[in-house]
Amino acid sequence: MMERTTFPLAQADAPTHWYNLAADLPGPALAPALNPRTGQPLSRDEMAHTMPEPLIEQETGTAREFEIPEPVRQLYAQWRPSPLYRARRLERALDTPARIYYKYEGVAPTGSHKPNTGIAQAYYNKQAGKTGLVTETGAGQWGSATALSASFFGMSATVYMVRVSARQKPYRTALMETYGAVCVPSPSPETAVGRKILADDPDCPGSLGIATSEALETFAQDPSLGYVLGSAANHVLLHQTVIGQEALKQLESAEDYPDIIVGCAGGGSNLAGLAFPFIGAQLRGGRPVRVIAVEPAACPTLTRGTVAYDYADTGQLGPLFRMHTLGHQFIPPSVHAGGLRAHGIGPMITRVIEEGLMEAVAVPQVGCLEAGVRFARTEGILPAPESTHAIRVAIDEALRCRAEGSAKTIVFGLSGHGHFDLAAYQKYFAGELTDAEADEDMLAHAAAGIPRASGSR
Ligand SMILES: *Cc1c(COP(=O)(O)O)cnc(C)c1O
Repeated sequence: MMERTTFPLAQADAPTHWYNLAADLPGPALAPALNPRTGQPLSRDEMAHTMPEPLIEQETGTAREFEIPEPVRQLYAQWRPSPLYRARRLERALDTPARIYYKYEGVAPTGSHKPNTGIAQAYYNKQAGKTGLVTETGAGQWGSATALSASFFGMSATVYMVRVSARQKPYRTALMETYGAVCVPSPSPETAVGRKILADDPDCPGSLGIATSEALETFAQDPSLGYVLGSAANHVLLHQTVIGQEALKQLESAEDYPDIIVGCAGGGSNLAGLAFPFIGAQLRGGRPVRVIAVEPAACPTLTRGTVAYDYADTGQLGPLFRMHTLGHQFIPPSVHAGGLRAHGIGPMITRVIEEGLMEAVAVPQVGCLEAGVRFARTEGILPAPESTHAIRVAIDEALRCRAEGSAKTIVFGLSGHGHFDLAAYQKYFAGELTDAEADEDMLAHAAAGIPRASGSR
């Protein structure tokens, strides 16, 4: 009999709702975001300046489910349900008794999970009468998703892209422009924040925090624009839960269930999207699952950061969030997993870790690329550098299974393909890739800028 490697899910079985983990989380309610000027919890009225009403409800609400609007489901249907594969050739190459599955989000038009939320946010902003979107992007994946989503809804898009990434990935810029977006390398002379930073350091490589400040400043000056977020926010994590809900059903058809779920974590959205439906099932009395967040050693937000209220943006224009943070002034070394260079993480991820429902590890990039090459040579898909972090740890866990003789089920999130990231692979093959780690001085300096020492609830 043919061994099954794919577990397709019919369109009719695609999720109709997003799943909200806040409904099942034990302990106190999620800590509110704070107004940067008053230090008080953001009111709904204040949130309404930056977010359409339905997104505010999704950001703060505790309903277990939110219905996915029909036009959004229609657009998802172009590539969703995304495939779940069993990595049989990788298993054999590793000679492991573990069963390894991966949920592949690279089938989206822009090559990652990001359009799952881009389309939803564009839809709600369009409904609210906005005619354009503005945002920031690190590696360009979120910028591409914003550009795509804006074009689907006939909106304009302005994307501030971290300068070092724009330089590393010119084709990402070209893709955004193809969709009709304007892509601005950040820091830029177009905003007060950017001009100030350039005056101090004309060669500043940029950071997600700086690009966020530039996008927020542009947004504040033009009421026709909607500001959209690529990761970290509760509603973004919510939109990504289509991934895990599909995976639950696909694994059911495989007659399997994960012992271990692995995902790479930048702001935490693809990891949450895959893992939260399983964590929710566990909290409602289902099988326990070990969830592992993987971050780069160069930007060790979860493993070396502090839990505190901090800004998501360097310019301190936006609200403060209670989260694991390295400090909003932290500028990580320019590793190739540009999507994992955020100083902070989604507040929901922080809570899940505090509740003991998730663990975190940091891994250096060379070993990740090595795992990515191994994966490409066995499974055929070229992974995004971000995704190779999940592959590294999935392989390590499978090798542990071999050593222990235990046949565990490992499911990891393959958040995107690496077709725009071949420069990273070239460098790896040329032996030019190094394991840049965040050094103590950098970390201490940035930590000193965190406004509150402790993250009391
Ligand atoms: C953006 C991105 C990430 C990191 O973002 P999360 O919000 O943590 O998921 C990971 N992988 C890919 C391919 C990305 O584009």
